[in-house]
Amino acid sequence: MADKKKDKYCVRCSRKAEDGDKYCVGCGAPLVNSCTNVGDMFTKKCTKVNREDAAYCSGCGAPTIFHREGLLSGTAVRVEHKGEPS
Ligand SMILES: [Zn+2]
Ligand SMILES: [Zn+2]
Repeated sequence: MADKKKDKYCVRCSRKAEDGDKYCVGCGAPLVNSCTNVGDMFTKKCTKVNREDAAYCSGCGAPTIFHREGLLSGTAVRVEHKGEPS
């Protein structure tokens, strides 16, 4: 094997991603933890790509896409509750 960059795997389904993929082809989860701050009339869109464990953008403080999609196990607050409805 050539000396390649670290393989990338989907954080949701663990499928291996190809170089340059931005979304998982298996489940559609984002593979790049980019900022969700798309800006508005007064602020510029934030295009920062954060670490994979970042819940909030280190550049502007907005939630990251992993956080918004509930892909961060440690921070997915509402996803864990799967109790039966009473
Ligand atoms: Zn996936
Ligand atoms: Zn940002």
